[in-house]
Amino acid sequence: MKKRLSCRAMGINCGFEVRDESEDEIMTVIADHAVRVHKLDFTEALRQKARDLIRFEGE
Ligand SMILES: [Zn+2]
Repeated sequence: MKKRLSCRAMGINCGFEVRDESEDEIMTVIADHAVRVHKLDFTEALRQKARDLIRFEGE
């Protein structure tokens, strides 16, 4: 079952969402997006928070 993480889940008003079976892949993609598009400083704290927000598809 795939997992997902969206910018919206992180409190960002953006329609971007990542779906993948690998949490590591999700983190790589969302970190790249957050830095490039939102100019976020993707710190270790933010990385932890984002990882906690990963949900299974359908949850
Ligand atoms: Zn976004």
